[in-house]
Amino acid sequence: MGSIRLENVSKRFGEHAVIPGIDLEINDGEFVVFVGPSGCGKSTLLRLIAGLEDVSGGRILIDGEDATAKPPAKRGLAMVFQSYALYPHMSVRSNIGFPLKMANMDKAEIDRKVNEAAKILNLTDYLERKPRALSGGQRQRVAIGRAIVRSPECFLFDEPLSNLDAALRVNMRLEISELHQQLAATSIYVTHDQVEAMTMADKIVVLRAGNIEQVGSPLELYRKPANLFVAGFIGSPK
Ligand code: ADP
Ligand code: MG
Repeated sequence: MGSIRLENVSKRFGEHAVIPGIDLEINDGEFVVFVGPSGCGKSTLLRLIAGLEDVSGGRILIDGEDATAKPPAKRGLAMVFQSYALYPHMSVRSNIGFPLKMANMDKAEIDRKVNEAAKILNLTDYLERKPRALSGGQRQRVAIGRAIVRSPECFLFDEPLSNLDAALRVNMRLEISELHQQLAATSIYVTHDQVEAMTMADKIVVLRAGNIEQVGSPLELYRKPANLFVAGFIGSPK
């Protein structure tokens, strides 16, 4: 389970209607990528889905249930930010286990879950280190580990690779795609990088100024971009 449905979801900050009203259907197990230029509302939309911001209007359904008023911890979602969101004074083990500690899980159970996540992410040998003693890619894996331990049905990634160099980005893209498959999760992935969108997505959502310009598979968008904006963004020849 991990379907998400947005019904006329809107968000305004004061006078500024950042998202006028969006309808979107995300199916269980899909890898959905939100693309669009800086400031178009990608992060805001993700934060609305996560419950980190309240909607101004509309409804958010998760697994068919109205989640609009649910707090973030009750939505079954986990958000992965850029790697700098780690706690520098805590070990990798404590960073990954932090959400479980907050949920008052007992220590043996936390250790078991952290070890399991570390194994999936190849971090077993680094659990006692501090984040500063890790490479960029390892730090990003820790951030992902912190999301995995909660066994979410859906991952929300907000430009998770934008701090990494180009070579590492390619590797991490593959790792995130693999993880998505392995955990049979639903993923929403925000990026302003066309290559990431085209290579990772089952479904791409192209956003401009808080509106959806087009939704489709990478191939559909490439072959039949709805307009010049989409064509320009996807890099297709229209
Ligand atoms: P993106 O992630 O696509 O770059 P954002 O969702 O961060 O875009 O921002 C979309 C718009 O909403 C921008 O104009 C931004 O300034 C505005 N915005 C985002 N968060 C807030 C906030 N907390 N208060 C006021 N304006 C905001
Ligand atoms: Mg953003």
